Amino acid sequence: HPENWCEEFNHFISQCLIKDFEKRPSVTQLLDHPFIKEAHGKVLFLQKQLAKVLQDQKHLNPVAKPRHERMHTRRPCHVEDAEKYCLEDDLVNLEVLDEDIIIHQLQKRYADLLIYTYVGDILIALNPFQNLSIYSPQFSRLYHGVRRASNPPHIFASADAAYQCLVTFSKDQCIVISGESGSGKTESAHLIVQHLTFLGKANNQTLREKILQVNPLVEAFGNACTAINDNSSRFGKYLEMMFTPTGAVMGARISEYLLEKSRVIKQAVGEKNFHIFYYIYAGLYHQQKLSEFRLPEEKPPRYIADGTGRVMHDITSKESYKRQFEEIQHCFRIIGFTEKEVHSVYRILAGILSIGNVEFAAISSQHQTDKSEVPNAEALENAAFVLCISPEELQEALTSHCVVTRGETIVRANTVDRAADIRDAMSKALSADRGMNVGILDIFGFENFQRNSFEQLCINIANEQIQYYFNQHVFALEQMEYQNEGIDAIPVEYDDNRPLLDMFLQKPLGLLALLDEESRFPRATDQTLVDKFEDNLRCKYFWRPKGAELCFGIHHYAGKVLYDASGVLEKNRDTLPADVVVVLRTSANKLLQQLFSIPLTKTGNLAQAKARISTASRSLPPHFSAGRAKVDTLEVIRHPEETTNMKRQTMASYFRYSLMDLLSKMVVGQPHFVRCIKPNDDREALQFCRERVLVQLRSTGIQETINIRRQGYSHRILFEEFVKRYYYLAFKAHQTPPASKESCVAILEKTRLDHWVLGKTKVFLKYYHVEQLNLLLREVM
Ligand code: ADP
Ligand code: MG
Repeated sequence: HPENWCEEFNHFISQCLIKDFEKRPSVTQLLDHPFIKEAHGKVLFLQKQLAKVLQDQKHLNPVAKPRHERMHTRRPCHVEDAEKYCLEDDLVNLEVLDEDIIIHQLQKRYADLLIYTYVGDILIALNPFQNLSIYSPQFSRLYHGVRRASNPPHIFASADAAYQCLVTFSKDQCIVISGESGSGKTESAHLIVQHLTFLGKANNQTLREKILQVNPLVEAFGNACTAINDNSSRFGKYLEMMFTPTGAVMGARISEYLLEKSRVIKQAVGEKNFHIFYYIYAGLYHQQKLSEFRLPEEKPPRYIADGTGRVMHDITSKESYKRQFEEIQHCFRIIGFTEKEVHSVYRILAGILSIGNVEFAAISSQHQTDKSEVPNAEALENAAFVLCISPEELQEALTSHCVVTRGETIVRANTVDRAADIRDAMSKALSADRGMNVGILDIFGFENFQRNSFEQLCINIANEQIQYYFNQHVFALEQMEYQNEGIDAIPVEYDDNRPLLDMFLQKPLGLLALLDEESRFPRATDQTLVDKFEDNLRCKYFWRPKGAELCFGIHHYAGKVLYDASGVLEKNRDTLPADVVVVLRTSANKLLQQLFSIPLTKTGNLAQAKARISTASRSLPPHFSAGRAKVDTLEVIRHPEETTNMKRQTMASYFRYSLMDLLSKMVVGQPHFVRCIKPNDDREALQFCRERVLVQLRSTGIQETINIRRQGYSHRILFEEFVKRYYYLAFKAHQTPPASKESCVAILEKTRLDHWVLGKTKVFLKYYHVEQLNLLLREVM
């Protein structure tokens, strides 16, 4: 009876204090007390309450009422408005289900700072936009291996569920976090990693620290300030945490996907470049900046200067960047990079900033027009110096290119525009996908800005794919399995986004294929591209607005988006001429050499096509570098087409392959879903905008999800596996029951659980069945 919670709580405390402790216990001791652990109700506020109790002996008086009653007690349930006023931890338990009630529930919960809510085994997370004290180690302990219903919903409970499944069924798990930009995906991923490292035992403190430090490091390189989120991930991230069969954490690997490289060279108004550039610019000491990294303070690098040519506007931002720089240094050290390696990384970053300052001007001689030269030789020298390559060769690679015709090599001049494109392509390549190698997927959310370009298109297609994966798991596969197993279930209708996904990915007439085709025509323009789309993409998801020549609209699952096609062809081509690769390979900087020493093989996939930096412990196999992270494999294996002609690699094809690679990783694990929701656009705490939340709920098909989850069984276990695992519950150790339906029935009947179902080959269980079974098993073993 949660409404009696406060009284019960005080009663517990008094009992504990009197019975089990000699002197006044600490909060930790109290929280560790089995009695408290079992206490149900609003554990989220336990910490605060405990502190208060300890401070004030008066509170031991069981009749004392808490000050913030609103927060600590559930509203009484009146029969007539039960649905409205009872806060439900799991929306599946709502008796009446409609949009209004769902939203009402979430809103009330949010007002009580209950940001998490279950829909069956799916977790909804509302961004609190304020720091909550619910993520301390005490909470990790609280959510460790207990029944889900013993505590309020929490992200730790989801991580715990994945961990328990991993240990129980020895099966890979995959946590998919989705939501709009700024909805809290990255924070959720952090929290999951935090809890998993806790669950994976603290026997190796160093390893834990390493794993926790990888995130801030990766974020410095891959996050940036956008109009929506000051720390927006501009890349997709797949974290894999490796565990031993007994559940001890062994190591972690991060794969990055689809870094928004174009941000290096250009940012939209009000947005910034990747954090790391500002950190190093502010952090490297003045003297060092000049001599070693060649970053002059009086002329800020173009890539990080804003419209007024400044990088840092005030002392506070400068100081804050400096602090961040120190933190990054610390992360590098903890993870195990040597001074020298870190130095190499900084030099490459400084190189990118210097290259950005290189300008081009046209020179016309008698024979050649269109030729370009570099009027600011100093910038070029600086770039060459920090990249440890020859300035002359660099200049040549930027301003000319080699063409081989009939065995003869001819050097042709590059125009100013072409040279500038190559400069920018080079900067992007230098910040290329140096992936770092738990399954947690945190990928950029759906984006719909005032102006949407190629980057948004790619991001939104990726989200479309994630939504498809979600639909497959929650609806399609589930219904298919019931059918195959002969179980009656009412079919649930849902929005299938497959046709839209086909429109993007099909060959040869999908949007991406069309884009690639058009990119191969030298004379193609952004206008011809949009015309081509219009001619070929004849479906209800595509339209062309009147009066806006270079625009096209797409009706995504999450809403209508208008894209601007200007510059899309050029972005897609993203060509880095072989001439530049050759020069970069001559660098004395080992890391840079490695980055560009590309063994071109005919086969391979993008998983291999990533530079891997793995954090691993000594207990890992030899091919992981022992004890510290290191660049241990660094190879890019390109798609066959590209082996003959590097120029043919396009962003669209790269994007398609990384998306496929990501999916291939995801599909092997048992999925868990976390759906993040942004309650308002002002990043304000406690502000709940119904319309905005409703749009997000609808786009994720929440009502359909609740429907199917109500009748659904999240665990389906083969008879054989079930008997093997749970036979202790009904049989003696020396017995060997057959792996049959009858044995399963015998076990299940013994447990007195109800609502389970048996199919033709599998036992169908709800999540709480598995919890109960595991608890019972622990008791008998
Ligand atoms: P996304 O990755 O979905 O774009 P983030 O995870 O970066 O969004 O979250 C955006 C901001 O919202 C964070 O910087 C943080 O201020 C706030 N936030 C998100 N989740 C939480 C949380 N659980 N507790 C406190 N603040 C949060
Ligand atoms: Mg993010």
